[in-house]
Amino acid sequence: MNSPSDLLSSVFGFDAFRPGQGEVVEAVVAGRNVLAIMPTGGGKSLCYQLPALCREGVTVVVSPLIALMRDQVRALRAAGVQAGALTSGNTEEETEEVFEALDRGALKLLYMAPERLSRAGTGNLLSRVGVKLLAVDEAHCVSQWGHDFRPDYLEIGPLAQRLNCQVAAFTATADPETQEEIVARLFPRRPEVFLRGFDRPNLHLAFAAKDGPRAQVMDFVARRKGLSGIVYCSSRAKTETLAQALNAAGHTALAYHAGLEAEERRLAETRFQREDGLIVCATVAFGMGVDKPDIRYVVHADLPKSIEAYYQEVGRAGRDGAPAETLTLFGPEDIRLRRAQIDEGLAPVERKQADHARLNALLGLAESPVCRRVPLLRYFGEERAGGCGGCDICAEPPETFDAKDAARKAFSAVLRTGENFGAGHLIDILRGQRTEKVLARGHDQLPTFGCGQEFAKGEWQAIFRQLMGLDLLRPDAARHGALRLTEAARPLLRGEVELTLRRDSVAKAKARNRPEA
Ligand code: ADP
Ligand code: ZN
Repeated sequence: MNSPSDLLSSVFGFDAFRPGQGEVVEAVVAGRNVLAIMPTGGGKSLCYQLPALCREGVTVVVSPLIALMRDQVRALRAAGVQAGALTSGNTEEETEEVFEALDRGALKLLYMAPERLSRAGTGNLLSRVGVKLLAVDEAHCVSQWGHDFRPDYLEIGPLAQRLNCQVAAFTATADPETQEEIVARLFPRRPEVFLRGFDRPNLHLAFAAKDGPRAQVMDFVARRKGLSGIVYCSSRAKTETLAQALNAAGHTALAYHAGLEAEERRLAETRFQREDGLIVCATVAFGMGVDKPDIRYVVHADLPKSIEAYYQEVGRAGRDGAPAETLTLFGPEDIRLRRAQIDEGLAPVERKQADHARLNALLGLAESPVCRRVPLLRYFGEERAGGCGGCDICAEPPETFDAKDAARKAFSAVLRTGENFGAGHLIDILRGQRTEKVLARGHDQLPTFGCGQEFAKGEWQAIFRQLMGLDLLRPDAARHGALRLTEAARPLLRGEVELTLRRDSVAKAKARNRPEA
């Protein structure tokens, strides 16, 4: 059987669990009865879908939402999982097909509308096929005092008793009375209850645009000398060179990646666990087996893959609850690399789109004009009002500006050069630089040539980065990162919508990070 984290990537195409998901999945896989309270959009379905694949036999999922069941069945089948649904929306053939697959023992997940539960024969059917796990979505529907009460949900508890099977229930409703009612009606004994906000208030969150990234990392670490930390890098080679540089600067650093011998990796893990003040420069291969409570910082020397991966990785710091710091570096190269990885992958088109959207969300977080915890927690379904006081934005709110004109100039440079060039060349055109490449292509003759003098090169870079982050401009991997306009850029080009960007003055970042000049 595959491990949950293998299945997470191979079947679902995700690179990390969302906050809370990992623990719930683990408990369900271990066979415990569970009630998990997670906000809408928090990723509840994975918490029963994935465990269903880790075990023999069929998992029954009760859900009141027929459209949602059909969507999930479709998505699971597309991912190669045997799933079916018994709902009033079925055709006779579909129902026949499900029964037939059940009898063959071929189904992994069977979705069932609640009204099916009270049908004569359903109990017999389920005990005949040997259901081991009953997952209850929207479990608050069992509450007689709630708005969503579904009388058929009252059948679930007795059915579970009769089948003598594990129960995992999920809801987004957090009020304590409803929880008590769910516990009383669905479970024979008190289940393990998961109710935890996604926030980790002791983590300080910060992002910075790459600007002499090696120096940025060295500087961050130097200010935290003697503390244990992890520096995540996007390549094996970089973990090695960075560890060397840190050692040369008088720190104790190790490189860690999947290319090392198993013995070396184990040694690094043990040393990190036991010694104080060790720095591990690692690829994402590092972390799964590491449970060190007093990691004081996590640095991303390169942009992580997604918000999920970001939060899982920074979340390794400060498990002891004491303050811990994080810094995530990102630059246009990172964006190009990630887009190329997605585009060149073998995933089906919908998954690629979803991956691009997830990357956009991460870039939006990186260039957020408001408190980091607002977009971060919103991404996981939790709304929060006001600043957290524990992030770089709260400490120093960035300057923003009306970027409508700047964006239109950038778009115009892209379009007039046939969507054939990357940001560097386009910036030269906007700034009126007569470079060899500009002259060779006759781009000094364009009306756009020199129309963007009001911004310095670094400011244009920040603008292009944000336009890419907002997915208004997208680099084309097949054409060396040539930028093209996305559909979302059209209303802006027509002047129909507003655009506010951060005036991330690279010059300012430089002054702060590199005092040696
Ligand atoms: P809920 O049922 O809690 O409202 P869903 O299970 O529908 O939420 O998940 C919400 C979205 O999050 C879905 O689009 C799902 O594909 C996505 N999602 C779930 N888990 C992950 C993960 N670990 N990484 C990335 N995306 C995820
Ligand atoms: Zn904040």
